[in-house]
Order: sequence, then C-alpha cells, then structure tokens
Amino acid sequence: MKMLIGGAWTDASSGRTMKVVNPATWDEIGSVPLGGPEDAGAAVEAAEHALAAWSEVPALERGRALAQTAALVRGESERLAALLVAEQGKPLREATDEVRGFAHILEYYAGLASSLHGETMAAKAYGRIVIEKRPLGVCVGIVPWNMPVLIAGWKIGPALVAGNTLVLKPASTTPLTTLEIGKLFVRAGLPPGVLNIVTGPGESLGEALVTHAAVRKVSFTGERETGRHVAEAAAPTMKHLTLELGGSDPAIICDDADLEKAAAGVVGARFYNCGQVCTAIKRAYVFSSVADRFKALVAEKTEKITVGGGMEAGVGMGPLNNAGGYERMQQIVDDLRGEARFLAGGETTDKKGWFFAPMVVTDLPSDALPLREEVFGPILPVIEVSDLDEAIDRANSTQYGLGASIWTRNLERAGRGCRDLEAGIVWVNQHLKIPPEAPFGGTKGSGIGRENGPKVLDRYTEEKSILIRS
Ligand code: NDP
Repeated sequence: MKMLIGGAWTDASSGRTMKVVNPATWDEIGSVPLGGPEDAGAAVEAAEHALAAWSEVPALERGRALAQTAALVRGESERLAALLVAEQGKPLREATDEVRGFAHILEYYAGLASSLHGETMAAKAYGRIVIEKRPLGVCVGIVPWNMPVLIAGWKIGPALVAGNTLVLKPASTTPLTTLEIGKLFVRAGLPPGVLNIVTGPGESLGEALVTHAAVRKVSFTGERETGRHVAEAAAPTMKHLTLELGGSDPAIICDDADLEKAAAGVVGARFYNCGQVCTAIKRAYVFSSVADRFKALVAEKTEKITVGGGMEAGVGMGPLNNAGGYERMQQIVDDLRGEARFLAGGETTDKKGWFFAPMVVTDLPSDALPLREEVFGPILPVIEVSDLDEAIDRANSTQYGLGASIWTRNLERAGRGCRDLEAGIVWVNQHLKIPPEAPFGGTKGSGIGRENGPKVLDRYTEEKSILIRS
C-alpha cells in the first residue's frame, strides 16, 4: 500500500518499504512506504496548501464530509475489521466494534460542527467585541498500535471539522486499516491535502513532523517517555499539544459490591485487546472480607477465555501485537514467578504468534512492577485492602492518572471514589467505556489535555478578538 499525500497515493521518497506482520502467525501481510523526513515535509506542505480553502468551507459541510466517510466505513466494516485483526491481532468482535466506533466518532463530530461559532458583544467603551474561532492550521496526529482505528478517529474528527488540515501517522505495526480508511475519505470527496496519511518510523518521520515549523498542533497518543520527548521536540516552535499517554488504572472492589458483576467487569476490562488498552484495569484492590470469593470468581472467568487468532470462532483474546511487547511481558512474568502467586495462567506456550494465556496474580510485593508501572499485556494483579481509605491511597500511588473505577452499591463510597481517585475518568460499577461525548484524557503522568467531549473543538481552534469602533 502507499501513503496519502496531497490526495495522491505515493511511495516513500527513498523508495524503501517496511513489512507489516500478522501477530498471530508472524506471516507478512503487506508492506507500506518507509517514509522519512522528506516525506514528512511533503505531507506538511500538502496540508498547508489545502488549509486556506478547507478553513473557508462552512463547518456543516466539513461535518458532512465526515458523515459521508462514516457511512462508507460502516458499509465496509467487515472488510476493514478483518484487516484490523490481521495487523493488530485482536478478536474480530473487538475489531468490528473498533471500526464501527470510528464511524460513530466521525458522526459525533459531524454533529458537533453546528456548535462551532464565534460570539459578539456590545461594549460601550470599545464599540463591539467580536470573538472569532479560527482553525489552528496544520495539525499532526500520531497514533499507537493498540487501538489504531479508534484513536485515528479521535484525531481526524475534531481537526477536520474545526477547519484544520491534518497529517496522520499510524504506528508502524498497524498502518494498513488506516490507509484503507484513507481511501474512503478520498471516495467521499474530501479535498486533496486535507487529510494526509504517512507511514514510517516514529524516530525519523514522526520526529520530523513534530519539529516541523509549519505544524501548529500535535495530538500524540502513545507511551509516556515518547510523549515527554514529543513535548520537548514541539516546544521550540510553540505548538499546541495534546498528550494521551499511558495509564495504570486501578479498580476498587468494595465488600458491598455485586461480586459476580464486578468480577465479570474487571476481567472484561483487563483482557480486552489482550490487555493492551491505556484504560484497561491494571490493578484490582479488593476488600479483604470478600477477597477469597472475588479472586475465585476472577480466576474462574479468566480461565474460560479462549486464546487464539482473532479470526477463529469463539476466541476471546488474541496475541500481543509485537515482539517488543511480548519480550517485556515475558520478563515481567519471569520476575513474578518467584515473588507472586498465579491464580490463572502463567504457563509458557510454544504456539506460533505472540500469545500469552490471560493471567491473574496475587500476593505481589508492594513494589512489584505491575503495581508501579503500566503493564501492556494480559496480567491482572489482585491486591487485598482493609478499607476504602487504604484502597484509595494505593490506587493513587502511581504516577499515572488516566482512569479508575469503584465497584459498590453504596452511594457514599461511590461518591468518595469519584472525588478522591486521581484520574481523568472515574467509572462506577463499570470500566473501559469511552463514548465520544465524554472528555477523554489523563491527569498526572498520563498526559495533558483531553480528546473528545463537547468542548474539544476549543482545542482545535484559536480565539481571535476583534474590537470594532465605528
Ligand atoms: P509509542 O510511544 O512507542 O508509539 C506511539 C506512536 O508514536 C507511534 O506511531 C510511533 O511510531 C510514534 N513515535 C515513536 N517515536 C516517536 C518520535 N520520536 N516522534 C514522534 N512520534 C514517535 O507507543 P506505543 O505505540 O507502544 O503505544 C502504546 C502506548 O500508548 C501505551 O503506553 C498506552 O498506554 C498508550 N496509549 C494511551 C492512550 C491514551 O489515550 N492515554 C490510548 C492508547 C494508548 P512507530 O510505531 O513508528 O514507532
């Protein structure tokens, strides 16, 4: 496949390509251009060229272009979902949800177009004050491999509807579905250069995008250290920044919770996408008085998850996406073997593909890595706590602050969790649901800014004050 620059499908200027591999089989399933700084420059130039005309298109018409693409995506969701399974590894049901979720996001932003307007006010001393909302200009969206389609939607939707043009860089292991979706934008009649999709390594192509002087905003989703680096690289040219970084989401299970539902919810929100979700539950804190029952339920439900290739019938969990993630996970499991108790999983598999059985561990030392850092893989630590005070203290004890949940039937405890858990999103008796209506993003080390939500267009526009005296 080729990159989309200025409405044309192009090879990398170097002529080089990079392979895309199926994580369940290690088979090569395609290749894309290995773009570099020159290609980044060409894409930004194409986006600059398209900007003036696109920013003058009425917002509702810009929204219509998104809605028309959403309809095409829905029409082709089966084909796109199968491609997403092949490059990412997730089960078909999850891939289908993600592709339809992408369409839903475009539809949400098409609707939000009608909320874009300025303001005027009469002010005796100055005449009239007009506040215009101007697009920022050329934006860059950088996307990780875990939810490549959904997260691309979080960047494309608001950037385009607000009148900006965009250069989008998918992760190197998952570029194919995004490029196919690019074809649907072209088919829906999006003008050339409004959306450009470039492929290539983050450290060269991505770096050239985030340092480019003509780029006004970078919206980055990825790992915390990369995010820190992106912030530094973007600083000299004063770019607007949204950083959606990792999470180590805690779940607190109180002794009054519906344990059956809580166990099902926690297992679902840990092993979805093979545990590779920024807002997956990465630590479960359960009151000691119900811990035995909760652990037994969680272990039982985890062992029922069928692991396999995402296109196989009945599969509940696919492989990890890439070799680096697999090696990191293997190291974590090896380290835990000596110091924790496995309630489920933990055996190695000699299956081809980056597979792990889903794991539940308990009795971890308090400084064990999964209790401090984000673990992007299928392991659920369950930790006993004596009460809500201890649970909240321990839940807040990492540098992350993306999501958190509390499972209880007690309104006062739920309220306490909502108030005191340090997170951008708190769920009560659920976890992982991320509707576009809800602002999404983290506090502390989980990032800066928010994506989605009714006010997100403020992050893709700049106010211009005009004072008119007659
Ligand atoms: P990375 O940070 O490694 O990569 C993310 C993207 O950044 C990729 O497209 C990558 O390109 C690119 N990139 C890498 N280096 C640079 C650079 N120097 N300049 C510009 N771009 C660069 O993260 P992962 O792909 O490993 O994604 C997993 C992480 O994403 C997890 O920590 C997860 O929690 C987080 N995440 C956060 C979410 C949130 O909203 N808070 C949502 C989903 C995931 P390439 O692939 O070519 O290396």
